[in-house]
Amino acid sequence: MDKKKMTCPVEKKCGGCRYLNLDYSEELKNKEDYVRRLIKPYCRLSGITGMEDPFFYRNKVTRVFGMEKGKPVYGIFEEKSHRIVKTEKCLIEDERADAIINSVWSLLRSFKIRVYDEDTRVGLLRYVMVRTGRLTGEVMVTLVTASPVFPSKQNFCKALKKLHPEITTIVQNVNSRTDSLVLSDKENVLYGKGFIEDELCGKRFKISSKSFYQVNPIQTEILYRKAVDYAGLTGKERVLDAYSGIGTIGIIASDKAKEVISVELNGDAVKDAKINASANKIKNISFYKNDAGKFMVDMAKKGEKVDVVFMDPPRQGSSEDFIKALLIMKPKRIVYVSCGPETLARDLKLLTSGGYKVESAECVDMFPKTEHVETVVLLSQQKPDDHIEIEINLDEIDATGAETKATYKKIQNWVQEKYGFHVTNLNIAQVKQRHGIIERENYNKPKSEDSRQPRCPEEKVKAIEDALRHFQMI
Ligand code: SAH
Repeated sequence: MDKKKMTCPVEKKCGGCRYLNLDYSEELKNKEDYVRRLIKPYCRLSGITGMEDPFFYRNKVTRVFGMEKGKPVYGIFEEKSHRIVKTEKCLIEDERADAIINSVWSLLRSFKIRVYDEDTRVGLLRYVMVRTGRLTGEVMVTLVTASPVFPSKQNFCKALKKLHPEITTIVQNVNSRTDSLVLSDKENVLYGKGFIEDELCGKRFKISSKSFYQVNPIQTEILYRKAVDYAGLTGKERVLDAYSGIGTIGIIASDKAKEVISVELNGDAVKDAKINASANKIKNISFYKNDAGKFMVDMAKKGEKVDVVFMDPPRQGSSEDFIKALLIMKPKRIVYVSCGPETLARDLKLLTSGGYKVESAECVDMFPKTEHVETVVLLSQQKPDDHIEIEINLDEIDATGAETKATYKKIQNWVQEKYGFHVTNLNIAQVKQRHGIIERENYNKPKSEDSRQPRCPEEKVKAIEDALRHFQMI
C-alpha cells in the first residue's frame, strides 16, 4: 500500500496528524520554512532531518476506555472535547501496541471487566498504555483501573500474554482521581519487572510507566548525537544538563566530559536518572532535583562556572531567570534543544543580545505527520568586546517560580466562588501551560502536545486565566 495515501478514519476528530495528507517531503519543507522564518533574525537554519519511514514510530500509546452514549468504547478523546472516539489503529503509533490494546478490549467481556463510566464512577478499566523499547524489544502494558480491586487479574494477564508473548511486563496503575490525568502514583506490578529498558546512543535507560522518554527513538538518537556533537567536548569540560528528564543527554555526553551536572524538576525523573547513571557505570555525573532557573541563579550567585550547557526545556521554553543566570555564568557553548520553535526564537533573542552568537541550527523531525518539530541550536560566547553588555542584577531575579504562587486548590476555590463551576487540575495545568508556567503534574505527558488529553473548554480557560491574573501569576 502506498503510505502516502494512507487514510485515518479518526483524522478529523483526533486532530493530531495535521500533515497526514501532505507528501512527507512537503511536510518537511513546511516545518523547515516555519522554523527558518522564526529564527531568521539570529541565524541560518541548515536543514531538517526527516524519517525514512514516517509512520508507526510512537513508542508510547494510550487509549481511553469508557462509556459513550451508554455504550462501552475505547479510543481517543476527540479534539477539544471529552467524547471518546473509537480507535483501533493509529498511523503514527507502534502497531504492536494497537494490537495489544485491541486484544485487551476483546478480553473484557469474558472476564466481566467493565469499562469506567466517568458520570456514574462505576466500572474498572480507564486507560491502557503500552510502551515499547525499540532496541530491546521489551513491551510494557499499563492497565489503569479506577479501583485496586481487579478480579481475576492473574488470569487476565495470562490470557493477554498468551495472545501477545511479546509482552514483557504488565502493571496495574490505580487511578481513582476525578481529573483527566492518565496515571496516578499507585502501581502494582502484575507480571514481569514493572518497567522496560531501551538503548539510546549505546546507553541503557530504564523506563517506567510514568517516566518521560522521547516518543520517537529513531529520531531521538539522531537528535542527541547532533546535540553532543555540537557541544564539541574534549574530555576536559564541566557540563550542565538542564531540564534533564531521566538523564539521557547528560549520560550520553558523560564519556566525553570531565563532569556533568544535571538538573530536573521532577523527582521521579531524577530517581530514574540516578538509576540509569549507575546502570551505565557512570561516575562523573550528579543529579539535582530543582527548578532549572533557581538552580542556575544559585550557581551564578556562588560564582560557579561551567564550560558547556545543554538545555532541553519543555515547549514553553526556558525562563528569564535561567537565561539571565546563564549570561552571568558565560559558558563557552550552549546547546539548545527545543520542541517549541516560537519559544526558541524568544529565548534566542535574549541569548544573542546577551553576548552569544548562533553558530549552527538544524531541525530533526521527531513527530512526523503532526505539526511539531524539534530544533537543535549551537550558541557560542563572543569575546567580551564583541557584544553589548547587559546589566543583570541577580538579586532582582525572582527565582521562586510562578507555579509556586497559588496552589491548584486555591485556584479551584477561587473559580468555584466567582464563577460557580468546578475546574479540574488538568484544566488548570493546561491553562498554566498556555501561559508558559512550568508544570510538575504534567510529567507523565509526552513532551509533544498530547492530543489524547481532553482540552479545557473555553469558558473554563477564561475563568482560570482570570484566577491566574488575580494571583498575579500572569
Ligand atoms: N532532556 C530530557 C527531557 C526533556 S523534556 C530528554 O531529552 O529526555 C523537558 C524536561 O524538563 C521534563 O523532564 C520536565 O520535567 C523538565 N522540566 C520542566 N520544567 C522544569 C523546570 N522549571 N526546571 C527543571 N526541569 C523542568
